[in-house]
Order: sequence, then C-alpha cells, then structure tokens
Amino acid sequence: MARIAFIGLGNMGGPMAANLVKSGHEVLGFDLAASVLKAAEESGVKPASHVSQAVKDAEIIISMLPQGRHVLTAWTDILQSAAQGTLVIDCSTIDVESSRKAHEMAKAASCLSLDAPVSGGTGGASAGTLTFMAGGSQEAFAKAKPILEGMGKKIVHCGEAGAGQAAKICNNMILGISMVGVCEAFVLAEKLGLSHQALFDVASTSSGQCWSINTYCPVPGPVPTSPANNGYKPGFAAALMLKDLRLSQEAALASGASTPLGAEAAQLYALFEKQGNGGRDFSAIIEMFREKA
Ligand code: NAD
Repeated sequence: MARIAFIGLGNMGGPMAANLVKSGHEVLGFDLAASVLKAAEESGVKPASHVSQAVKDAEIIISMLPQGRHVLTAWTDILQSAAQGTLVIDCSTIDVESSRKAHEMAKAASCLSLDAPVSGGTGGASAGTLTFMAGGSQEAFAKAKPILEGMGKKIVHCGEAGAGQAAKICNNMILGISMVGVCEAFVLAEKLGLSHQALFDVASTSSGQCWSINTYCPVPGPVPTSPANNGYKPGFAAALMLKDLRLSQEAALASGASTPLGAEAAQLYALFEKQGNGGRDFSAIIEMFREKA
C-alpha cells in the first residue's frame, strides 16, 4: 500500500481520496477550504496544514483542482517539497497547454508525471467507477495504474504528456454537440406532434443513437435515471460543460483545428449559463430551444 498526498478535496477529490483510504492506502490531504478538509478527515484522510506537509514523504501525489492556473500554482508548491522520483498525477480537467507545462515542471524537478482527467462525475467518484484518460510516459502510467484502479473502472493510456486532457476535451466536445442535436430533435418532434417515447424508441435503436439519447435522454420518461426526471438536478452541470467546450475551443484555436459545431455548442451553453442555468444539468438546455421556438 502506498503513502499518497491528495491536493484538492472538493466534490470530486473528496470521494476519490475516500476510495483510496478504503483501498488501504495512507492518504494525506490538503485543501485551501477548511470545511472541505474537515469533511475529508471524516472519511479517513489525514489532514495536512500545508501542501508541503502533505507531500513531503509521499510516494504518489494527486491533484484535483478547478483550472489550469490552480494546478500550476499547486504543482509549484508540490514540486518544491516532493522527493525526486515521486509520481505526480493531475486528475483535474484543464487546458492542454497548462497540462504540458505542469509535466515540464515535474521533469525539471526529476519527478514522474501524468495527466489523468476523469469522466463519470461525482457519482462515479463516489462509486469508484471513474474512467481515467492518462497522458505521460509508460513508466509513469505503469506506476499510476494500480492506484487509479482504486478510484475507477477503466484506465486508458492515451499517449504522451497532455494526451489525457486532449482525449477528455475531444470527448466532451462530442457530448456537448450531441446533446444540442438531441435536444433540437425532441423540440422538433414536439412541434410535429410526435411523442417523446416514439422518437426515443426509434432514434435510440437507429442511426441517431448516442449517449445523449440512449443513456441521458433530455426529456422525462424514456430513460428513468436521466436528470430530466429529476428537475434537471446535475448530473453534469451546464457550467462544467461550458468550461470543457471553452477548453476545446482554446485547443482548436491553438492547434488550427476547424470545429464549427464545437464553437456553436460553446456559444449556446454560454447563453444558457448567462440565463442563470449554470448550476442545472446540461441536458436542461432543451428548455432554451423550446423558448427560442
Ligand atoms: P470543486 O470546486 O468542488 O473542488 C476543487 C477544490 O480545489 C476546492 O475544494 C478548492 O478549495 C481546492 N483548491 C483550489 N486551489 C487549491 C490549491 N492551490 N491547493 C489546494 N486546494 C485547492 O471542483 P470539482 O467538482 O471537484 O472538480 C475538480 C476538477 O474535476 C475540475 O477540473 C472539474 O472540471 C473536473 N471534473 C468535475 C466533474 C464533476 O462532475 N464535478 C466531472 C469530471 C471532471
């Protein structure tokens, strides 16, 4: 069993660290928010008063933070105190450029590094069923895999530094675009007098099938577990979808990729958030199309 430092114990990091404790690891945690640190302590995480205290003797360090700038700030502190050869894993969803910079910082400090963003949300974090998309060397991936298995059910090595973040934002760009498409189709069906169930029965078994309809249907009824049946309580908040779509557009601009539908989806989610819906599930955007109609 390993001695692990966990930096950032919020909605995702808290339950992920708790699962590492359940797997038998010794987990030292740090978060800037005292209330968050206290909640983690209740699940068996040993609280540290500073990043350096948490990481000093750790074999593996994991960060789960909001954005690239938080990761670069935290990794600057982490790498000042981490022993050479320590593996540092960032599970946050951040821009590819910041992720690659973090890898360079780790290399300069003679540490191994991995970007390993997740999909599966807070439910997956609690249940230990996350999917990890990893970027970094074979050596870093091999060392990280058994640890990540304590928090997830699928661990994919996507390539070198930043490849995990690249996979995450490409996947979520598909998701944002497909959800918009599915919502448009249901609103069109309503106008044409076609029932939700009829469209679902056809599209979920035909060429229109995708996760946004089959698993996460944006209207109540056809998929009882989808947030549409629960007042669009997230799930996956629209603000987080907007964050990921913006990351995809930053990456498209930096790399010269053409992503017109990704750009449109980002604009639609920006409008939806501006209307006060950032905290609702991202599938609630169907209501905006009904209003537009
Ligand atoms: P969160 O805001 O609940 O938690 C982030 C935590 O980081 C906070 O508790 C904050 O106090 C702490 N923090 C910030 N800077 C710090 C620093 N320098 N040192 C120590 N602690 C610091 O966010 P979350 O929902 O847990 O998301 C974390 C990451 O996971 C984000 O990048 C998000 O995009 C990604 N993600 C979230 C979900 C989800 O459903 N919530 C799903 C997939 C991926």
